[in-house]
Amino acid sequence: MKPVAFAWERPDSLAALLARLAEAPGNVKLIAGGQSLGPMLNLRLVEPDLILDITGVPELRAVRVESDTLVLGACVTHADIEDGRVRDLTRGALRRVAAAIAYRPVRNRGTVGGSLVHADPAADWVSALTALGAEVEIAGPDGCRTLPVERFVTGPLTVALGRAEILVAVRVPALPAGAAWGYVKHCAKIGEFAHAIGAVRLEPGQGRGRAVIGAVEGPPVLLADARPLFGGRIGADFADRFDPAAADAALRAAGMTDAVERHVHVTVLARAVAQAAKPVPLNLPEAA
Ligand SMILES: Cc1cc2nc3c(=O)[nH]c(=O)nc-3n(C[C@H](O)[C@H](O)[C@H](O)COP(=O)(O)OP(=O)(O)OC[C@H]3O[C@@H](n4cnc5c(N)ncnc54)[C@H](O)[C@@H]3O)c2cc1C
Repeated sequence: MKPVAFAWERPDSLAALLARLAEAPGNVKLIAGGQSLGPMLNLRLVEPDLILDITGVPELRAVRVESDTLVLGACVTHADIEDGRVRDLTRGALRRVAAAIAYRPVRNRGTVGGSLVHADPAADWVSALTALGAEVEIAGPDGCRTLPVERFVTGPLTVALGRAEILVAVRVPALPAGAAWGYVKHCAKIGEFAHAIGAVRLEPGQGRGRAVIGAVEGPPVLLADARPLFGGRIGADFADRFDPAAADAALRAAGMTDAVERHVHVTVLARAVAQAAKPVPLNLPEAA
C-alpha cells in the first residue's frame, strides 16, 4: 500500500513552523526521521493533507548545556548521540541507550523527539529518559511549557501535546559523580523493540533513586522513589538489597496480571540493578 497524496513543506524556522501548524487547514502531520511515520503513512493509518518536515528548523537540532542539564533539540538523531557528536552529561548512559536502538539506518534518521512523541511503549527513549528524570520542552501558540517525561507520555502512542504544539527539546539532568545507572533491554534479536526494559538511576550517597519498568502495555511503570525495591534504603549495598518481591508487587499494583510477564520484567529490572552496581564498559568508539 502507498500513502494518500499529501502536500509537503519544510519550514526553516521555529516561528514559521509554529505559524504554519496553527493556521494550516485539514489534517497536518509533522515528520522528523520518518521511521515511525513512514510505515504509518504507507499503511494509511494516517492520511494527512499536509506534512511539515521539521528537520530544516535549526532550533530543533541545537544542543546546549545549561548548568547541569543537557538540552537536546528534538531532531537530534539516535546516531548523533551514539557517535558522541553531542555532549553527554550522563557519563555514557545516553550513548549506550542510543546504540541499542534498532539498527544503524534507523538510528541515522530516527530522532529523540520523534521517538518520545510516537510513544511506543517499547521504545527505548521513553523508558530511559523517564528513569533519567528528563523533561520535555513544548512550544505552541500559547508559548512554551515544560513537562517531566512521565507526565508527557500518558499512554500507548499517546502524549500530552496539543494539536498546534511541537516538542522542541529534551532536558536531561546530568548523572552526578557517585550516581549509578543501569539500563537493560530484553529482546529476542538485536535491533528489535524491547519485550522488557529495566532502568535504574540511583544515588546511594543521597539514599535516593528512581526505577522504571518499561515495554509494558501503557507508559513505563515509574517508581520515582525506588527505596521500597531495596528494603526501604538505597545505600552502597543496593545490589544486595534488591527485593524482587517488591518489584513484582509494584507491577501487580500497576495492573500487570500475568505472572510470567511480571517475572520477565522483574528479572530484567534485577539485571539493570546488577549493571548499576557493576557498570559494563561503554565499548563504543571514541566520541566523534
Ligand atoms: C525497523 C525499526 C526498528 C525500530 N526499533 C526500535 C527500537 O529498538 N527501539 C526504539 O526505541 N525505537 C525503534 N524504532 C523506532 C525509531 O526509534 C524511530 O526513530 C522513532 O520511533 C520515531 O522517530 P522519528 O524521528 O523517525 O519520528 P517520525 O517517524 O518522523 O515521527 C513519529 C511521530 O512523532 C511526531 N513527531 C516527530 N517529531 C515531533 C516533534 N518534534 N514534535 C511533535 N511531533 C513530532 C510525528 O508527527 C509522528 O506522529 C524502530 C523503527 C524501525 C523502522
